[in-house]
Amino acid sequence: MGLSEFDLIQRFFTRPALHSSINRLTVGDDAAIMQIPEGQELVITVDTMVCGVHFFPDVDAESLGHKLLAVNLSDLAAMGAKPVAATLALTLPKVDADWLAGFAKGWWHLADQFGVDLIGGDTTAGPLTLSLQLMGLVKKETALKRSGARPGDGIYVTGTLGDAGLGLKILQNQWLANKGAVLDRFHQPWPRVKEGMSLIGIASACIDLSDGLASDLRHILEQSQVGARVDLDGLPVSEAVFDYMAKTGDAHLPLSAGEDYELCFTVPEQWRQKIPIPCTRIGVIESEPGLRMCKNGITQALEVKGYEHFS
Ligand code: ADP
Ligand code: MG
Repeated sequence: MGLSEFDLIQRFFTRPALHSSINRLTVGDDAAIMQIPEGQELVITVDTMVCGVHFFPDVDAESLGHKLLAVNLSDLAAMGAKPVAATLALTLPKVDADWLAGFAKGWWHLADQFGVDLIGGDTTAGPLTLSLQLMGLVKKETALKRSGARPGDGIYVTGTLGDAGLGLKILQNQWLANKGAVLDRFHQPWPRVKEGMSLIGIASACIDLSDGLASDLRHILEQSQVGARVDLDGLPVSEAVFDYMAKTGDAHLPLSAGEDYELCFTVPEQWRQKIPIPCTRIGVIESEPGLRMCKNGITQALEVKGYEHFS
């Protein structure tokens, strides 16, 4: 294709800043400069996606551009932060202009929805690896964290659980029905940024669901030093996941499957009526450590785990 490193940055990844008062110096200099507005704090996250580990080598480039940004937006959503800027580190086996055009299209489409500027990055040759650092702002000392859950708080989730996991099963030919909707949930998750921001001052703890409810809720429990009881029969599932569970008897999918990128949060009882977003109450925080699940009125300790690297 004959595109040099600098041509490709110029062509696909350079745009005027939307937030020029915050992102004062962007792509094209040795480093970017951000100015944090008075009374706000910078919230930073980074996520890497490795070909063959986080995505299939033949996946659509546009979906990948979307998903790389979406998973980072989801982390900011969990903190209640407003996204403002990103840096992008691309490691590419070769310069494929069609692939880059697709990737950039998916990336910018989502960036425009959430007002994210791309303020810098790095481009190197090597095995396909995509890394995005995302920065957001939150009013000082108001960010949502994992550590604030207290006994008696209700536990809630947005959306439905297990759809992305079912999408993955379909891609791996382990399940053949209900393709459409759940495949989109797997390829193009929609981060709950506005929902996260609206929970500030209401949620006592919050996390985004990347590894599966059982695994991610445990992080809230550990950091808050509490336990929980979850009502397995009350988990919100789509028709497709309901159908899968009914036909296979695999009741654990919505607990164990990752990549839904919904929010799981806790709310003290006195704020229950003030929750400003559609969500489902799935359980309650208890003082006794551990995660217990309730099914058909029977409570038992929960053994299900989510996805972990190195295990
Ligand atoms: P340096 O060698 O000084 O680190 P580079 O030559 O790597 O800078 O990058 C030149 C400019 O392009 C920098 O502003 C850098 O932030 C930006 N940049 C490089 N790669 C990307 C990318 N993939 N996306 C966005 N900006 C990038
Ligand atoms: Mg330099």
